[in-house]
Amino acid sequence: MRTVTVKFGGSSLADAEQFRKVKSILSADPARCFVVVSAPGKRFKEDIKVTDLLIACWDKARAGESFDAELKTVEARFSDIAEGLNVPFDISTEISVMRTALLAMPYRDYALSRGEYICAKLMSAYLSLPFVDPARTIRFTPDGAWDEEATLHSLPKALEGLSGAVIAGFYGSRPDGSIQTFSRGGSDVTGAIVARATNSELYENWTDVSGLLAADPRVVEAAETVDAISYRELRILSYMGASVLHTDAVKPLRACGIPINIRNTNRPDDPGTLIVPHLPEEHDRRSVTGVAGRKGLSVVQVEKTMVSDGAGFTAVLLDIFKAHRVPFEQCLTGIDTISIVIRSDLFAPKREVILEAIRRTLRPDTLQVRDRLSMITVVGENASDDDNMTVRLLLAAAEEGVSISTINQGAGRLNLILGVNECDYERTICALYREIKKSGKTR
Ligand code: ASP
Repeated sequence: MRTVTVKFGGSSLADAEQFRKVKSILSADPARCFVVVSAPGKRFKEDIKVTDLLIACWDKARAGESFDAELKTVEARFSDIAEGLNVPFDISTEISVMRTALLAMPYRDYALSRGEYICAKLMSAYLSLPFVDPARTIRFTPDGAWDEEATLHSLPKALEGLSGAVIAGFYGSRPDGSIQTFSRGGSDVTGAIVARATNSELYENWTDVSGLLAADPRVVEAAETVDAISYRELRILSYMGASVLHTDAVKPLRACGIPINIRNTNRPDDPGTLIVPHLPEEHDRRSVTGVAGRKGLSVVQVEKTMVSDGAGFTAVLLDIFKAHRVPFEQCLTGIDTISIVIRSDLFAPKREVILEAIRRTLRPDTLQVRDRLSMITVVGENASDDDNMTVRLLLAAAEEGVSISTINQGAGRLNLILGVNECDYERTICALYREIKKSGKTR
């Protein structure tokens, strides 16, 4: 029998109406049997997510202040849903257990996890499916990393023999039994873990958009939805700022290659975006998947005559950044020049010490820093060499009058990264997107 794991995000669970949509999505395909839920999200723009209310509870609890008002709001969110669905659900007992626990010990991850915990129990009552608590089945190591081996040992056992279940997203536990959450948005990761543990043929991630867009819609009006993208392309676009799925959600699926389908709860007929281990061959000539970017970068430029004739200069330079725990984004080398691109916010507090260490250790001819830089990447795993896509993209930026400060392109696959001044960021993205569209090259 086909098994599909489905995960619903906060906006898909914001009120009773959204819960009804979830039920109808599940009834449309009986294979959708393992259901992972987030905590209820915003119902309207100014609304507050349940997880944020819980953070406020914890904040007040640890300061020794009353958090009754916030807790009441959380209670009201859940009881509105239960009443709207006509599901008998004892929310006040759940809230009072949480209140007592927080008063005894204001423990952050416990507080945060209660949104998913209560939501999953409510959903399980509504769907008449068993509730599975990840506190006993999704494991973390003592230092807080997800423990793949222990989880894949205990989760399949807990789900064995069940033809369906509702599992709370976002958390698990450490070996001492204490609750540990993933980072924000982490129910996406739980969904992936459940898909793996149940050997699902597909992991559907239901949200409030019809998939990944080929460009940031705040920058490019009417950006198209991407129909298919590889794991690797998604990783690059997510790293550069595209946000449709938690960046760690692909990790549990890599070994088994389960595809992920991003779907829209409010438009269930839209096909969404399919995220696959490798793109099928027929996508070969339709090569560009998307464009994304980031602001807030600095570049440290080091120049020293004859340095390219020797070995080890770059290693020493990178060691200086490593010693000060500043990760680099890119390292671009030319003849006798090296440029290190780094995040300005990480660089700022250590700027003077790092520059002093470079001067002292490497004695460069020139040492310069440029700030307010942005990086824009165009990704297309199947871009073919004769496409001349890179040239056309560079021309498009040039025609827009943008001056490009850095260019980085990996060999083979298209992963072009351009560095431009922050003030040129938006118009560069628009120009690149127009060029991609003109060539009919988005998927
Ligand atoms: N509720 C958590 C958050 O708001 C986790 C999630 O929704 O995935 O970050």
